[in-house]
Amino acid sequence: MTDTNPPSERFLDAIRGALGPGACITDQAGIEPYVTEWRGILRGRCSLVTRPTSTAEVSRILSICNEARVAVTPQGGNTGMVAAALPQGGIVLSTERLNRIRELDSDNAAMVVEAGCVLKDLQDAAGQVGQLLPLSLGAEGSCHIGGNLATNAGGTMTVRFGNARDLVLGLEVVLAGGEVWDGLRTLRKNNTGYDLKHLFIGSEGTLGVITAAALKLFPGLGSTETVLAALNTPDDVLKLFVRLRVQLGDDILGFETFPSLGLKLARKHIPDIRDPFAGDYPQYALVEAFSHRRDPVLRESLNEAFATALDDGLILDAVVAESQAQSDALWRIRESIPEAHAKEGATIRHDVSVPVSKVPQFLTAGKTLVEQRLPGVRVIAFGHIGDGNIHFNLLQPEDMAKDRFLARMPELNRAVHDLVDSLGGSFSAEHGIGMVKREDLARYRPAVELRMMRGIKSLLDPNHIMNPGKLFLPEDLG
Ligand SMILES: Cc1cc2nc3c(=O)[nH]c(=O)nc-3n(C[C@H](O)[C@H](O)[C@H](O)COP(=O)(O)OP(=O)(O)OC[C@H]3O[C@@H](n4cnc5c(N)ncnc54)[C@H](O)[C@@H]3O)c2cc1C
Repeated sequence: MTDTNPPSERFLDAIRGALGPGACITDQAGIEPYVTEWRGILRGRCSLVTRPTSTAEVSRILSICNEARVAVTPQGGNTGMVAAALPQGGIVLSTERLNRIRELDSDNAAMVVEAGCVLKDLQDAAGQVGQLLPLSLGAEGSCHIGGNLATNAGGTMTVRFGNARDLVLGLEVVLAGGEVWDGLRTLRKNNTGYDLKHLFIGSEGTLGVITAAALKLFPGLGSTETVLAALNTPDDVLKLFVRLRVQLGDDILGFETFPSLGLKLARKHIPDIRDPFAGDYPQYALVEAFSHRRDPVLRESLNEAFATALDDGLILDAVVAESQAQSDALWRIRESIPEAHAKEGATIRHDVSVPVSKVPQFLTAGKTLVEQRLPGVRVIAFGHIGDGNIHFNLLQPEDMAKDRFLARMPELNRAVHDLVDSLGGSFSAEHGIGMVKREDLARYRPAVELRMMRGIKSLLDPNHIMNPGKLFLPEDLG
């Protein structure tokens, strides 16, 4: 892969001179966490980590890098799934010290925040003034809002509030040459030509550095209810979802599913995970309902809906959380599944989406497909079924060595992604492209879309210094 210039001593001096104290890390031990992926699969390399504290400092860094043609990899919490924040040379620009809440305007239901704010801190700040920032994911204690926007993160409230993209009113971005674009508007309506913020949302640091964002807030959660239902098949899970959408409408905050094997592995590998049911069931649906008000009717509507589903034989059993602790325990089962199967053995992961109505068809066909190719493979398909987003993960057969299993990854990925494509789905629902899914991008996005994407990249980053090697190989950009 071609690289931009490696940083020279003169360049390093220029960067140091442009930033305040403590902003540069150059020793290997200090750099280590920024070139280490949490998944432990890939490693990056860079000779400098910068930690700016203001938009002006970000601007100076990019201007110097652009002039010297040195690559810049923006990095937030480094919790991504596709090695998109892993530098391939050049410098890392960490947003960890860009972490101020600039404004929280309850009357306008909006907050203006810097890119390095940890998501959980923003949820808490909104909560303290009775508001809700409806973005929630397993990494929320360490991921940054800038990273969430640069990956257009999904999570467990997407079914009601959409992806990260849907929560953005405006952005402040430093462009590759160092120019600052102040698009931090907090307007609900603004039809004045191209909506440029959407170019940067989901761009994985390849077009510029998001330094701040204006986010939408919503009335806080007055009451929530959590139910775990046991069912026979994914088809029944879908039927339950469709039925609850009719009966409860927008009261559905989250709708997740996991199979029996997911619960078994969570119990085996994660302390304190308890099976809330006496029996073993093939499939589970985790439902979170909410009201902005303190609302006893919510519990009644939910009880009624699940009682009818039980009478009809659509569900086999259900438990309703009676306290926040019980609700947390049910969510912990769902959130422990990735860690549990990682502890069980090597995993080949797929983060795919298909139209919601086609999820059962995908799950049945996908399971048959991989089992035919690799007898003994264990499928753990779980996730955000209400958004049509399934983490279709394959666990190594019990009698197969890890290396032999992982060697089958390209073939199994291709088979699963081809199936997804044939159903009108996406090979990357919420995790992005990074370095891991570049070939899929080239294979599954139509030529005209790839041409437009490359054109946008070349327009906004003509010297290709922004996060090279992510989405596209530098040589493919011409
Ligand atoms: C336990 C766990 C659960 C997860 N669950 C979900 C989930 O439910 N849904 C989901 O979507 N993801 C999930 N993820 C993946 C990950 O948390 C998200 O992709 C998250 O949005 C990444 O944020 P980050 O700050 O860690 O970004 P990083 O990993 O640091 O960076 C990700 C990408 O964004 C770019 N970037 C970061 N900051 C900026 C910036 N300020 N300007 C421009 N580019 C920038 C980087 O260059 C890189 O390309 C999960 C991860 C873990 C570990």
